[in-house]
Amino acid sequence: MKKYIFALLFLLPLTLFANLSVAVTYPYIGALTKAIGADKVDTVVLAKGNWDPHFIVPRPSLIAKVRDADALIMNGGQLEIGWLPPLIERASNPKIATTAKTFLDLSRHVELLQKPTSVDRSGGDVHPEGNPHFHLDPNNILILAGTIKEFLISIDSQNSAVYEKNYAQFSDMWNKKLNTWKSKMADKNALKVVQYHNVMAYFNHAYGLTSIATIEPLPGIPPSSKHTMELIELIKKESPCCILHDVYHDTKTAEFISEKSGIKVVIMPHDVGALDTIEDLVSLFDYLTSAIK
Ligand SMILES: [Zn+2]
Repeated sequence: MKKYIFALLFLLPLTLFANLSVAVTYPYIGALTKAIGADKVDTVVLAKGNWDPHFIVPRPSLIAKVRDADALIMNGGQLEIGWLPPLIERASNPKIATTAKTFLDLSRHVELLQKPTSVDRSGGDVHPEGNPHFHLDPNNILILAGTIKEFLISIDSQNSAVYEKNYAQFSDMWNKKLNTWKSKMADKNALKVVQYHNVMAYFNHAYGLTSIATIEPLPGIPPSSKHTMELIELIKKESPCCILHDVYHDTKTAEFISEKSGIKVVIMPHDVGALDTIEDLVSLFDYLTSAIK
């Protein structure tokens, strides 16, 4: 009997104080969850930062990662529509069901830009709820950090003081960085840019840049020669500074446009890990606010 009591006493703290296992879809959510959760949360990031966030394959290794998760945080705005629903279904874990209180959709907590005004598909095949790349406005990062803090407190209230303290530290640091980035970008205000896909919509919005066109004719539709030729004419007329390009599409069409129009191609990482040097959220925005010269 004594033996059992001893074993119970030994095991009890392990279960009581076991870390929360939180699965998140993208690396930027992982970085925020680690910043707020610190040593109370084990964060499992599903997608890699250099993958195209729109087209991820729901492979079995990802199902294994969500099977034992205590909670799931996703970007939302239909960015994960092609790959997360099959993962959730196959994992059969009630804690990551979209109706569970341990499930968080970040898109519900920020204002989405470019909401379509009609429900037909004339605006392209992706993003029917509006542009979901909201984390690329560094001001939104603070809102998202606060949302994740509240979420962690709601499912693990015994550590609420830890989450509050980590959030306060993060927001102090982030507010200082926001000032630095704002002054770095001050002379870029009113600059025109071209993009492959409108990934930088929120970054442009934050710093007053105007995206005049995209290399893809519509969101999710690959470039066509007719659209490319029209784009070259538009660039000659409007004089944008550059083509902002993601890391996961081929730059072939952008290089061609660059050659014909004389504007440069600037690689813009969209997430932590998109380039080897982008190790965290600070280095992501340090890079982005230095990229356009
Ligand atoms: Zn997109």
